[in-house]
Amino acid sequence: MNKISLFLINIVVLLSLISVPFETYRASKANELMKYTIVIDPGHGGKDNGCIDGNVYEDEINLSIAKCLYEELVSKGFMVYLTRDGDYDLAGEYALNRKNEDLRNRVNIINSCQANILISLHTNYYQNQDIYGPMVYYRVDDENSKSLALEIQDKLNQISDLNKIIHSENFYLFRKTSCLALLIECGFISNPEEKIKLITPTYHNIVAKQISDGVISYLRNIN
Ligand SMILES: [Zn+2]
Repeated sequence: MNKISLFLINIVVLLSLISVPFETYRASKANELMKYTIVIDPGHGGKDNGCIDGNVYEDEINLSIAKCLYEELVSKGFMVYLTRDGDYDLAGEYALNRKNEDLRNRVNIINSCQANILISLHTNYYQNQDIYGPMVYYRVDDENSKSLALEIQDKLNQISDLNKIIHSENFYLFRKTSCLALLIECGFISNPEEKIKLITPTYHNIVAKQISDGVISYLRNIN
C-alpha cells in the first residue's frame, strides 16, 4: 500500500469517527426539543376579523402564518398545539360577550396543554402607512419571556431590515397563563408594501421560519 492510499484510508476512518458523535449530538438536540410544548394562538377568527384593510383580514393572515409555524416547529421535534385551526372564534354560539369568552377558552387550551411557550400571532394596522415591520411583545416583568422575545425579534428584524425593539405588555393571555408568553404582530397591513407580503403564502413561511429559529436559539442558550 503506497503512502497516498494509507493517507486516504486514515482520512476516511477519521471522518467516520467524527460523523458518529455528530449524528448522536443532532439526535440528542432533537430529543431535547421534544420535551417542550408550544401553543400557537392565531388571533381573532370567525366573526372577529381583527384589523381589516380593504379585502385583507387579519384573522386569515394570522391563521396562515400559524399553520406554517406549526409545520416548522413540528418538523423540529416540538409538541405543538393550535388554539384554532380554522375560521372560527372560541366563543359559544350564545355567548353574551364573545371576546371575553373567546379569550377565556384560549387560556383554557394553553393551560390544559401545559404549554412551556405561548406564541400568539397577530397582524397590525396603523394610521401612519409608513410604519411597518414585525414586533414582539412579551409578558411584563418576565425575564425568560423577554429573552425569548429578544431572540425572535432579532430574527424578524433580519427580514424587515429594521432595528425594532421588543415591548412588554400585560395582555389578558399573559396574565392568565404562567408559561413563557409572547404576542407577535407579524407586520402592518396598513403599509402598502408589507400588505402585499402579508397576503403572500411564501412570506408566511418566511415569518414562521424566523420565529422558529428564534425559539431554537433561545432554547440552545438555556440548555
Ligand atoms: Zn389582532
